[in-house]
Amino acid sequence: MSGVAKTKGPGDTVPAAGDLVVLNGVNKHFGALHVLQDIDLTIARGEVVVVIGPSGSGKSTLCRTINRLETIDSGSISIDGKPLPQEGKELARLRADVGMVFQSFNLFAHKTVLENVMLGQVKVRRTEKKVAEKKARALLDRVGVGSQSDKYPAQLSGGQQQRVAIARALAMDPKVILFDEPTSALDPEMINEVLEVMQQLARDGMTMVVVTHEMGFARSAANRVVFMADGRIVEEAQPEEFFSNPRSDRAKDFLSKIL
Ligand code: ADP
Ligand code: MG
Repeated sequence: MSGVAKTKGPGDTVPAAGDLVVLNGVNKHFGALHVLQDIDLTIARGEVVVVIGPSGSGKSTLCRTINRLETIDSGSISIDGKPLPQEGKELARLRADVGMVFQSFNLFAHKTVLENVMLGQVKVRRTEKKVAEKKARALLDRVGVGSQSDKYPAQLSGGQQQRVAIARALAMDPKVILFDEPTSALDPEMINEVLEVMQQLARDGMTMVVVTHEMGFARSAANRVVFMADGRIVEEAQPEEFFSNPRSDRAKDFLSKIL
């Protein structure tokens, strides 16, 4: 685990050695809606950051800007010291470096589980098929769905599909994985099997940004909790500190509703 991320001002663009994801003064509008407001956020290599906040506060948009599924209006974002590329091959490589796991799994419905985990390796990383298959099988075993390799996504439970989605992200050897409410669409009995895989990834040192309402996960896996409201980062703290002693009224109000 590298050092704890430091908070930096908008003018400070040189990343420290351990910094992997750096957002400086990021603003984003959807029409008149100012959905991200002056976001400064630095995530260190190996750090696990849980993002929480009310619905509509900009959590998904924040994730989507980090792998450039959304453009930003001002400010800067860099991954591993490089600014986000605008287009083309560089952008495909960025998407491979920045894995994303969505609430709705987003697996390719007409490809088998194995093919889902091989595809990006072959198309983006240009990995030889045999090598990609071996790696896919190992990753599917690691997330506990090795026996489902030849099935199609619809034949799997939600928890299994989400674990395949995690294997697919891992197959690209990402520098960081963004999880946007990965367990919100799951039946309750399947939530833990996904959280356990994520816990293991955290222990293995993966850099993770996790939007979730699973406070147990936040307490046990997060190095830091970032609380968002109305497009702003209102509060950041270590989980124990945040849950036992929230400072802002917005955070107190939010926690009183979910805990
Ligand atoms: P959260 O994930 O915290 O619930 P989102 O980032 O999804 O919040 O959304 C933040 C705000 O931006 C919401 O008011 C939402 O309705 C709005 N929004 C999100 N995506 C779009 C879009 N593509 N076009 C217009 N408004 C959007
Ligand atoms: Mg969201």
